[in-house]
Amino acid sequence: MNNLSTILKYSPFQFNKIKKERFFKNFQKKLTNYHFDKCNKYSKILNLLKYKKSIKYKTFELPFLPVGLFKSHNLVSSPKNDIVRTMTSSGTSGNKTSRIYLDKENSAMQIKVLTKITNNYIGHKRLPLLIIDSKNTAKNNKIFSARSAAIHGFSIFGSNITYALNVDMSLNIKEIDKFYEKYKNTNCLIFGFTSILWKYFYQSLLKTKKKYNFKNGIILHGGGWKKMHDEKVNNNDFKKSLKKNIGVKDVFNYYGMVEQTGSIFIECKEGFLHCSIFSDIIIRDKKFMRCKFNEYGLIQLLSLLPTSYPGHNILSDDVGKIIGEDDCNCGRLGKYFIVKGRVKDSEIRGCSDV
Ligand SMILES: [Zn+2]
Repeated sequence: MNNLSTILKYSPFQFNKIKKERFFKNFQKKLTNYHFDKCNKYSKILNLLKYKKSIKYKTFELPFLPVGLFKSHNLVSSPKNDIVRTMTSSGTSGNKTSRIYLDKENSAMQIKVLTKITNNYIGHKRLPLLIIDSKNTAKNNKIFSARSAAIHGFSIFGSNITYALNVDMSLNIKEIDKFYEKYKNTNCLIFGFTSILWKYFYQSLLKTKKKYNFKNGIILHGGGWKKMHDEKVNNNDFKKSLKKNIGVKDVFNYYGMVEQTGSIFIECKEGFLHCSIFSDIIIRDKKFMRCKFNEYGLIQLLSLLPTSYPGHNILSDDVGKIIGEDDCNCGRLGKYFIVKGRVKDSEIRGCSDV
C-alpha cells in the first residue's frame, strides 16, 4: 500500500500546490485501485461509475463516495480477522451512524499523522492535559464513538491527565481546582468536544460563578457545530466567552470526520482551517461541479490514510468554501477554508442514492 513514510518526514504544511500535487494524485490513485481490488462493494460502485484502473485521472476526477454510504453499508478492505477497532460517528439521536473498520496499520498511521498535524499548532512538548469529559467516555472499548476516539487520540499530547467532569457530566470542581493550582502559570492543554465544552464546562462554570485564568493554556476542541448552531453560538462567541471566563491564550478548533480520523484540519490564528500534505478538499456545487475559491458548496474530503476501508475520498454533507491556497498569513502552505454548516438530509438525497 501507500508508503507514507516518504512524506512523514516533512512538515505537514511545507508543500505548495505544485509540489503537493506531484505525490498526492498518485497516492490517491493507488488508494482507489487498492480498495477497488480489496473491497467488493466499493468495486461494484466504481464499476457503475465506469471507473477504469488504467485511466490517468486528475485528482478531482477520481470517484468519491457520499458519506451516507458508511451509514448504510459496511465497507471494509482488510480481512475481517485483521480488524482491531470499530469507530462510529456520534450521530444525532435517531440518525444512523457510520461504522469505520480499522486494522492495526491504519490505526497506527492515524496516530502518526494526528501527532504531526497537532504538534504544528501546539508544539512538540507534552502538556498537562485537562479533558472536558468524564473518565467513562474514554473507556477503552473495541467499539469507539467519535468522542472517545478523539479523547484517546489527543491524550497522547498530554501528561498528568485530569478529567473535568463526573460520570453524570457535572463539574468535578475538586479535580479542576487541583489541576488549576498546579498549572495556572505554566503551559497546559484543555481538550474537549465543542458542544460538551460549552454546555458542561463553560455554562456550568457560569452557574457556579467560578472563574479561572489559565494564562498559558490552550484549548483544542472539535466535533462539529450543529448543536452549537442550535444554541445560536458561533465560533467567535465561543472563543471570546472561553477566553474571558477561563483565561486561556489560544483556542483552536479542529474539523474532521470519523471516516478520516487522523488527517484533521486545525484552525490557524487567522481563523482558517488548513489542509495538510495528508489531506485535500474540493468544493462541489449541486451538480457536483467544482466551485471556485470563495464559493460555497459541499465539502469533498480526500485523505491518504484510509487503507482498511475505502474512506479516502468522501463527499460530506458539510457546506464550506475555500478561501485560498499557499498564501494564508499564518505561513502554512496548502488550501485553507471555512465550514459554514451542514445541509439538510433532503437536499442531498440525490447524491446518497448512488
Ligand atoms: Zn492560516
